[in-house]
Amino acid sequence: MPIILGLASIILLAILFGPQIWVRRVLARHGAERPDLPGTGGEFARHLLDEAGLRGVKVELTGDGDHYDPVDCAVRLLPQHYDGRSVAAVAVAAHEVSHAVQHARGEPAFVRRFALVKNVMWIDRLATALVLLTPVVFLLVKAPVLLVLQLLVALLLFAIRIAVHVVTLPVEFDASFGKALPALTRGRYLSARDMPGARSVLKAAAFTYVASALATLLDVGRWLRALRF
Ligand SMILES: [Zn+2]
Repeated sequence: MPIILGLASIILLAILFGPQIWVRRVLARHGAERPDLPGTGGEFARHLLDEAGLRGVKVELTGDGDHYDPVDCAVRLLPQHYDGRSVAAVAVAAHEVSHAVQHARGEPAFVRRFALVKNVMWIDRLATALVLLTPVVFLLVKAPVLLVLQLLVALLLFAIRIAVHVVTLPVEFDASFGKALPALTRGRYLSARDMPGARSVLKAAAFTYVASALATLLDVGRWLRALRF
């Protein structure tokens, strides 16, 4: 029995953290500074946005993970992608710009995804509150059934959050392979030698949300932060 439990926890940890570790490794592998590239990720994002006629979309620095913000109309990049000159910076910039293009064109899948993700925020907070309130409720009511029930509901809510990111994967794949990859190929921004690397980064970029949704399941620090309204 202990062996089965041990195996089960290893498999669970691999499922929860494997994708995140893979995404980070791919980005790190292609994150080496390349002075021969024509510009930084930030400059490249600006260039692609202008090419797409999206001059109103801003390019900003963030510490919060690369993303496109449809409310502020901003492509936000991490310092290593904003200021970095690397295959990873170029590919990530192209991926995030593609979300701005999806938004500008009003693509239905993007609009649906945006509505879903907005709901994920309160689902996430509710689940977090449930988990953090578990000991309090237990002390007050002292009913183990309630405790189990509460944790099950929290788990279900976390599962919904992960499911939302899984069902919106087509939007991510369209950004990476329907738009960013063709743009990189068309513009010949990278040499043929760098294209396989860019392709790997685009795949990792597409899985970023699913990977982090899985990994944050056990991140108590993040639960606490999520409660700050
Ligand atoms: Zn994306």
